[in-house]
Amino acid sequence: MNYIEKYRYYILFFIFIVAVLVWLPIIVYGQNIGLKTWFFDVGQGDAIFLNFADGNQVLIDGGPDGKILQKLGKAMPFYDRDIDLIILTHPHKDHVFGIVEILKRYKVGKIVLSKINFDSAVYKEFMDIVKLKNIPLKYLGDGDIINVGNFAEFDFLSPELVEGLKNKDFAGENESFGAKGQSLNDSSLVMKFIFGNNSILFTGDVGVDIENTILLQRYNVKSDILKVGHHGSKYSSSEEFLKSVFPEYAVIQVGAKNKYGHPTEQTLGRLAKIGAKILRNDLDGDIIFISDGKELYKTKD
Ligand SMILES: [Zn+2]
Repeated sequence: MNYIEKYRYYILFFIFIVAVLVWLPIIVYGQNIGLKTWFFDVGQGDAIFLNFADGNQVLIDGGPDGKILQKLGKAMPFYDRDIDLIILTHPHKDHVFGIVEILKRYKVGKIVLSKINFDSAVYKEFMDIVKLKNIPLKYLGDGDIINVGNFAEFDFLSPELVEGLKNKDFAGENESFGAKGQSLNDSSLVMKFIFGNNSILFTGDVGVDIENTILLQRYNVKSDILKVGHHGSKYSSSEEFLKSVFPEYAVIQVGAKNKYGHPTEQTLGRLAKIGAKILRNDLDGDIIFISDGKELYKTKD
């Protein structure tokens, strides 16, 4: 009996163990490091959906009407009726309306929003459903962090959580808040989303004042994708801010022939100047990216 025959079971067992050790991390982690991000074409409004390979799902804003339901119906498996986290940047109708429709039909784990009271029929309905369904609400702002699974986090950069700003009542759409007379748009949650090497800056509808405040924090805002502030309004996306974010892709969530004239020539010009690839829902439909935590790709579906 030669040496190999004598020890063949040990050798086979050894090979088996080596194979398990090599493949196990790939099976456990390899398939789970993935993310698909949709910037849905919901007309004039924001709605972004992040679907993680580890099963987590996050929705940022819901758009101005019920269109989000068909969009999510396509992006999620038909049997999946759960969304782990909803982030509402601010309570204007073009961001909150679709969320109300979602809350009526999906089971939502948690909602994050900025701490302001705003008096509108849609926002009241939103709050009523949240209370009725007992969905945990969290008010967040600058300095807060939310982890999603093992590989992703949201770093919140705005609004500043200054005492006295937090419980300010809003009487109407144009009512100002805070000592500086900021608009409701400026109460938007701003966050840098980090997924491995990839990042997306979500800016809600904030204007130049808030962009400047964020730049003063000296936080690294550099991101692969910029969700362009306030649908491409000229009062957002300052040259200085865009230079700091320096995105490869600039996504403008905007409806065709909207009454605001978004996106403006000024903002498009400033985006072109930094060399960003400009993507617009009014021209490109749904805008989709996939990422493995290292590389980020734009994809068709
Ligand atoms: Zn908006």
